Amino acid sequence: MSKGNIGVTSNNIFPVIKKFLYSDHEIFLRELISNAVDATQKLKTLASVGDFKGELGDLTVRVLIDKDKKTLTVRDRGIGMTADEVNKYINEIAFSGAEEFVNKYKDKAEAIIGHFGLGFYSAFMVAKKVEIFTLSYAEDAKAVHWSCEGNPEYTMEDTVKADRGTDIVLHIDDEFTQYLEDATIENLLRKYCKFLPVEIAFGKKKDWKDGKQVELDEDNIINDVNPAWTRKPTELTDEDYDKFYHELYPMQMEEPLFHIHLNVDYPFHLTGILYFPKIKNNLDVHRNKIQLYCNQVYVTDEVENIVPEYLTLLHGVIDSPDIPLNVSRSYLQSDNNVKKISGYITKKVADKLAELFKADRENFEKKWDDVKMFIQFGMLTDEKFYEKAIGFALLKNLDGKYFTLDEYKAKVKEAQTDKDGNLVLLYAQDPDASYSYIQRAKEKGYDVLLMNGELDVHAMSQFEQKAEDYKLRFVRVDSDIIENIIKKEEAAKDNYSAEQKEGLRKAFESILPESEKLKYTVTCEAASADALPVFITQNEFMRRMKDMAAHQQGLSFYGQMPDSYTLVLNTNHPLIQALVAKMTEEQVEEKVEKKEENPTSNSESGQTSNNEVVLKTVYRLDGEDERLHQLTDIALLASGLLKGEALAKFVNRSVELL
Ligand code: ADP
Repeated sequence: MSKGNIGVTSNNIFPVIKKFLYSDHEIFLRELISNAVDATQKLKTLASVGDFKGELGDLTVRVLIDKDKKTLTVRDRGIGMTADEVNKYINEIAFSGAEEFVNKYKDKAEAIIGHFGLGFYSAFMVAKKVEIFTLSYAEDAKAVHWSCEGNPEYTMEDTVKADRGTDIVLHIDDEFTQYLEDATIENLLRKYCKFLPVEIAFGKKKDWKDGKQVELDEDNIINDVNPAWTRKPTELTDEDYDKFYHELYPMQMEEPLFHIHLNVDYPFHLTGILYFPKIKNNLDVHRNKIQLYCNQVYVTDEVENIVPEYLTLLHGVIDSPDIPLNVSRSYLQSDNNVKKISGYITKKVADKLAELFKADRENFEKKWDDVKMFIQFGMLTDEKFYEKAIGFALLKNLDGKYFTLDEYKAKVKEAQTDKDGNLVLLYAQDPDASYSYIQRAKEKGYDVLLMNGELDVHAMSQFEQKAEDYKLRFVRVDSDIIENIIKKEEAAKDNYSAEQKEGLRKAFESILPESEKLKYTVTCEAASADALPVFITQNEFMRRMKDMAAHQQGLSFYGQMPDSYTLVLNTNHPLIQALVAKMTEEQVEEKVEKKEENPTSNSESGQTSNNEVVLKTVYRLDGEDERLHQLTDIALLASGLLKGEALAKFVNRSVELL
């Protein structure tokens, strides 16, 4: 037996391990199993090149718990270690300034472990004593027993071990007895080891028999050693991809919409499969679903800085040994490999979508509503993605037909270009609420888009900004009378004087409800005679800003503005004309400041001013006229703005009138 001191330049790493690596205790298991898997893979490689001629036998890595002895053992049948190798790989942990480094990164256990190859020593986070029993594959090798109780002293001696390979035995600290629970260990294994390339067994499979759980003979294998992403796309069917999706997300009931198999060798290594999930109308729900692996070892599901933000909505796996995992998140963003990876993924995703669009447009259209938000998010946040996606991003009209922007522009260009050359694309957000406006647009031969998605308002603004000639406008179909939205020739006229219209306006103004949150402006328009006599419109710009404010910080100014609507009195409608006919005419005196040229004056201005009284014609309408209320309420009702008491009053009044 020999004794020695573990070769660390800093006096003692154990307090450091125990004290600072507290946040991620559980990763000790991942580290030990990774070592066991590596040792097994190495042996397979040696066998394949003929340097190992013995029997490989069963290579399963086993995790064993002994509750009485309070030990957890990780057992492999890999290459094992000779005494020299234990000395070299375990005893001489050559690193300097450990404490200094650990102090700097104390919140990030993984960084330290990865940085110093402290994988094996992470066992001391949860164990008061660790033993190694190992037998090298090398001919005539002697088995070694190494033991250490969490201080720099270790013991090493020859031992007898029947099987090639290594047992790492952890005597679990009393503080961490949860790591002696089957359920805890099984969960950790499923989290970190689900797709390791060597079978990992934890106990035996269990079954229910006569109301009791019984152990079967079969090993309880934790992992899938050939996960879909490591296989060739040509070997896989759509069903295989779907099956793998459910393996990744056992709680996910819905089928994914599309998948993309990633595979790069140069200039970095990356494999993986990304899935487009069915996205619900909340951008956050499905974040952090992509799992990041490093050679099939699970690393994290926080991929924010590795894939572009909009792609964090996707599901799936990315496996790359080239993503530096041991650095801070902010460093990741500036890492060149990571930038390339992110750019590659964007390109691959866009290309795949373009391909699906081309190959099977019908199927693409069917799935459009589900992938739309994701694609819009990408277009809004990533210029490169926009450039590709503009070719397959779709607009849907109220008849449920889909068009690319170019297709749609070509379709409506002739009818919907106004007299100034603007191409006006009409849309509705709530087709039921704007039914009458839509009808009027359709009567004119116009088409109306459905824009009721969360990001539609932003997407429309982006289309407008990108339009080369700045002559593209999206206008909600109820934001004005259709004749004003798409102005053709000179607008229709009525024969009323400004004074008559002013009287009409004032009469309606006086009965409109007004509040902090709601403002109405009344105008007269000569709309068509078969349009409603009175109707409500809402300014496109203000409404859009308010829509955006609801989803975006920094626009809250708009969010606080009152909702402002315009009440339009249609002077071509017989009912309005009847009201005008009923107005009383009065002459009132009005003082006006009169400016006069005074040719005889030598003053500099050559002007004198004095007040003069003039007679002015004023038209009045009896505010008590029930028709005013009835017409206003009908307009409010048609726009969904008549509620509560006002609605009840309207109903009662209507009944009385009948
Ligand atoms: P790393 O795995 O990052 O090199 P570790 O501290 O986990 O660092 O392990 C150090 C070395 O010890 C490994 O590189 C390997 O050579 C050896 N080793 C650890 N565990 C085993 C094992 N189960 N079988 C064979 N060799 C092992």
